[in-house]
Amino acid sequence: VNEEASAKAAAASADNGGPTIFDKIIAKEIPSTIVYEDDKVLAFRDINPQAPVHVLVIPKLRDGLTHLGKAELRHAEILGHLLCAAKIVAEKEGIVDGFRVVINNGPEACQSVYHLHLHILGGRQMKWPPG
Ligand code: IMP
Repeated sequence: VNEEASAKAAAASADNGGPTIFDKIIAKEIPSTIVYEDDKVLAFRDINPQAPVHVLVIPKLRDGLTHLGKAELRHAEILGHLLCAAKIVAEKEGIVDGFRVVINNGPEACQSVYHLHLHILGGRQMKWPPG
């Protein structure tokens, strides 16, 4: 099976607006390695890291933000908060001199978890364009 095609198919079927694995991480029903947390956001290590530092930053309340494509002006505060948390994570991880923030949006970007999240990647030389 073509890996890219199956990742795309999994991503497409994941967009049903239902609960995701991140709900369980927020509820601490499944373990995660938390890097930063406040009342609005949670940052934890990705289980399948793509760089020496790979942290996900998520809103604790999804509030319709399955993906960035659902963003409305009422989400402006939490979207800004997520970016500020990304910077705090980069500082804590010692990667302020070079890190990447990624949001995979939708099947063509291979989004697999439909609860908005920022990937914070660093600790190695990044390439451009990304794959
Ligand atoms: P996406 O492909 O942009 O939707 O990213 C989802 C990310 O969540 C992937 O990088 C996964 O490795 C990560 N992930 C999925 N389940 C878990 C988990 O239980 N703990 C930590 N990271 C996870």
